[in-house]
Amino acid sequence: MLEKMEILHVEKVIEEFETMTKDAENVQRETLKKILEENGSAEYLQNLGLNGRTDPQSFKACVPVVTHQDLEPYIQRIVDGASSLVLTGKPITTISLSSGTTQGRPKFVPFNDELMETTLQIFRTSYAFRNREFPVTNGKALQFIYSSKQSRTKGGLFAGTATTNVFRNSQFKKAMKVMQSQCCSPDEVIFGPDFRQSLYCHLLCGLIFREEIQLVSSTFAHSIVHAFRTLEQVWEELCFDIREGILTSRITFPSVRSAMAKLLKPNPELADLIHRKISGLSNWYGLIPELFPNVKYIYGIMTGSMEHYLKKLRHYAGDVPLISADYGSSEGWIGANINPNVPTESTTYAVLPNIGYFEFIPLKENVEEQVHDRGDANILSMEPKPVSLTEVKIGEEYEVIVTSFAGLYRYRLGDVVKVMGFHNSTPELKFICRRNLMLTVNIDKNTEKDLQQAVEEAAKLIAEEKQEVIDFSSHVDMWTDPGHYVIFWEISGEVSDEVLKECCNCLDRSFVDAGYVSSRKVNAIGPLELRVLRRGTFQKVLDHYVGLGAAVSQFKTPRCVGPTNYKVLQILCDNVAKTYFSTAF
Ligand code: AMP
Repeated sequence: MLEKMEILHVEKVIEEFETMTKDAENVQRETLKKILEENGSAEYLQNLGLNGRTDPQSFKACVPVVTHQDLEPYIQRIVDGASSLVLTGKPITTISLSSGTTQGRPKFVPFNDELMETTLQIFRTSYAFRNREFPVTNGKALQFIYSSKQSRTKGGLFAGTATTNVFRNSQFKKAMKVMQSQCCSPDEVIFGPDFRQSLYCHLLCGLIFREEIQLVSSTFAHSIVHAFRTLEQVWEELCFDIREGILTSRITFPSVRSAMAKLLKPNPELADLIHRKISGLSNWYGLIPELFPNVKYIYGIMTGSMEHYLKKLRHYAGDVPLISADYGSSEGWIGANINPNVPTESTTYAVLPNIGYFEFIPLKENVEEQVHDRGDANILSMEPKPVSLTEVKIGEEYEVIVTSFAGLYRYRLGDVVKVMGFHNSTPELKFICRRNLMLTVNIDKNTEKDLQQAVEEAAKLIAEEKQEVIDFSSHVDMWTDPGHYVIFWEISGEVSDEVLKECCNCLDRSFVDAGYVSSRKVNAIGPLELRVLRRGTFQKVLDHYVGLGAAVSQFKTPRCVGPTNYKVLQILCDNVAKTYFSTAF
């Protein structure tokens, strides 16, 4: 007799979400109480004089707002195997490495079962809303997911990226099963020691199960685009493997080879079909639905620094909808995408009030300007007080502060979000940018978002020549007098000097911040410099981060490379093919 498949009861998940968000203020109060009760015995909290109090007022009065840097000594003690309870009521056994693409090196943050449970809750919530609009039936998912190097810390704790810790957890697989989103690749591929080999095998598995694939996903959109760019290079080799039923010798790890051998049988018909379909494409447009005829949507984080990849992803996707995944970080989750129908760029994230205690620092222009250039530490003393989850105002921007079940208390996440509305009484947030990623020479300040818009504008000029900006980054060069902005571009093909010069001018003109424009006019900031990189440079940057322990699934190209991020700066500077200076001012 066929066993009945257990499927997530989506209406029940939605009902619970609705009930909880109607009472967000109380749920937040209760969540804080729970966090403080569970962790009250931790040394960090013991020393702050809460004396068993768990209400928000006492919490805010006793517990300081902190950055990762402030908590680093505590986290380091945990990493080194401290015998006492440092940040949490139960010992921490696993450490997550955040991608570290913003700071240039991975940061350690605690990971525990409670964090895993909140991760699954976020996944279930957005899935429930998504499935109402785009139901998937019992099929498979082509998931470009990879494991980072997993290691043991000096103190014997497991350390890996947050996504690796999630993928390795037995609950993850079960959750994917009830969400009918099981990865089509075997575990040996997901956890393979070399991500290039894993990527090749993911593609191969996807093609073998092409009829069954219901969704294509990854944690961040970058990995999906990266995967299909790779497919452009290796598709003939993939077809060859399918035709012969023998895996290319480039896959060298025995565990991966034997897992793949179980799936790969000679199938000349399938190889011919894929060959025909790919040969019939025009410039790879609509590649995804052509290869996977039953795909319902493409899923991964698509907002913030991922927006750059959407153009390419849309090209591959043809008419298949793109849906952004949820909002969170290695430190903890924040909100779920419960409106999968809205255009990707307008995605908002509804905060789940029971997965952490959230506060928000209002970001008012005038305050920001006063404190500009005084450094992070002083910013807070001059800033307005953080407000609670239900006190935020529509249209205002805030920096997120998280108190989690995994030992972070009033922790500044460093992300800027804008409140777009409320779902019941919980806010719906739009991700704006990282707060500290700012191009600034003197009185100018341009965010990651400003940079992205400038690149988008200038990239239109090369789009006319059928070329695209594969990836980009930036740097403030203070070695010149005056200092100036440097923008790095990797381009898909040849573009004339004339057009690139125009792109450089366009970039310079596109930074419309008053401080920048006025400084440029009086030459207090030098002409913007566009450095065009050799093909494959950003792959080297990715390899560098993977070498440091990052996972491809969590990779985010650093959009602004600071002077202390020597290695990445060196990779970029060593691979410059052409340089242009703006004549726009
Ligand atoms: P990680 O260092 O890998 O933990 O990355 C966490 C960071 O990724 C967050 O602090 C955000 O800056 C970014 N991020 C996560 N989710 C989203 C999202 N849905 N949209 C935009 N950026 C995101």
